[in-house]
Amino acid sequence: MTDRRRASAAVAVLRVVHRQPGIERAAAARRLAMTSGLITETVARLTCLDLLSEHPAPRTGARGRPTTTLDPHPRGPLTVAVAIGHETWQVAVAQLGGMELGRSESPHGRDPDEVLGVLAAHLRSLRKRHGTRIRSVAVSVPGTVADNRLAQAANLGWNDVDLSVLWPRDRGARPFLVGNDATFSAVAEARRGSAAGAASTAHLFMGAGLGGAFIEDGRLVLGATGTAGEFGHMPFGDPAQPCRCGARGCWNTAVEGAAIARLLGQPPPGDEVSYSRQVFAAAQASLAPGAPPRAERDAVQAVARSIGTGAAGLANALDPGIITLGGLGRDLLEIAGDQLYPAYLAGLMQFRRPAPPPLLPARFGDEGPLVGATEEAFSAILTDEGLRAWSAARRRFLCRLVAGARAGADVHALALGPEQDQQFGRFQAGAAEPVRGAGVELGGFAGRHDEVEVGEPKPDAARQHVHPFVALVGAQIHFGFGRREEHLVGPQPARPLG
Ligand SMILES: [Zn+2]
Repeated sequence: MTDRRRASAAVAVLRVVHRQPGIERAAAARRLAMTSGLITETVARLTCLDLLSEHPAPRTGARGRPTTTLDPHPRGPLTVAVAIGHETWQVAVAQLGGMELGRSESPHGRDPDEVLGVLAAHLRSLRKRHGTRIRSVAVSVPGTVADNRLAQAANLGWNDVDLSVLWPRDRGARPFLVGNDATFSAVAEARRGSAAGAASTAHLFMGAGLGGAFIEDGRLVLGATGTAGEFGHMPFGDPAQPCRCGARGCWNTAVEGAAIARLLGQPPPGDEVSYSRQVFAAAQASLAPGAPPRAERDAVQAVARSIGTGAAGLANALDPGIITLGGLGRDLLEIAGDQLYPAYLAGLMQFRRPAPPPLLPARFGDEGPLVGATEEAFSAILTDEGLRAWSAARRRFLCRLVAGARAGADVHALALGPEQDQQFGRFQAGAAEPVRGAGVELGGFAGRHDEVEVGEPKPDAARQHVHPFVALVGAQIHFGFGRREEHLVGPQPARPLG
């Protein structure tokens, strides 16, 4: 088996564990049609690389071979997701499997320089804390995106904002992605939400306008220029109404906050999302038994019918297995589902009506963009290339170091990596567990490498700890065997993987 195929098997296992952390090894092997020999070898390799940790699975019956569960490694790769909303920003650090290790959130005043300045400082502190464990960054913004720029976010009042200032290139050439909030919400629903498991899904996200995405076989359909999913600009509205995009009759002009204000005879609102929420709340209050009818209810019902009809258009055109409705659309289903569903069914082509694609509320509310950004950040690194980069960054220095150490010495090591990162390692040469295992502590620079304790020398068994697949990529290595002693070994020559 070639190295390329071995790497691909490794990536396939990582993807399965990302989707279902804690999956039993035997179940992962079945899902990937791998032999037990191949999965054992692959998992051992991934464990060695701090990507997976293996634990005994609880015995479910008296018979059956014992198996293990596959979990994210506690020192494994991390992603950072940033979601800039109309009123708040959120930042989440997540490990394989999508579990968040930390989340920060704060309201903001919509000044782009101020918001990006605060976020850049926050990301700097995360980089300092987690070092090269951070492998990718994804940023969600409520507007149209081109490359790493926010082209336009009408509701934020931002135009042509460069978001790459959040993660400058000198922090490493790891993936930095920028995407639209509706698109990321679609990813969240397809991978971890109401549409999880469906092969083909459409997500309709209602915020300041309508957006979303079509996802086929788990992949976003982005279009020729990456701007697919601008569902709000399909001409499902009144042809007389001009849209901010420059066209006339866009669907947005029938459902956005300004449209609701027009129906209520009120001036266009400043913050359309907050305004729509207020009107929805008033409409909901009027549904209580005995409450007087209110104009808000009629307006919200009209919007609900428009959403139902448009969703039918999406079903007819795209043939999704499931349609999810997110953002304000979730509230709309709850308040005016009795208007929305009939309009949806009436708009479907007749042959679809006996088994219409389910129209479901999204699982994720305001956190959809953040969850989706985390998922896309992992998609970008769970690749052969991502695995190679991780292997090189993590273990490049340890094998040479162990080979040169006296057996039994308690070795502390400081390595300066190719991305100007520093790693601090501590392990006992000659211990039963080699490169992986107890005693190895890696992370961002931990300092205190002058406090080295020396263990009792043992017979020279150090060389058995050299792992053939560990690469050395020009790392400068300092290591010490004695109190306050330091010795410069590197820079080391690069060796290929395998
Ligand atoms: Zn438009």
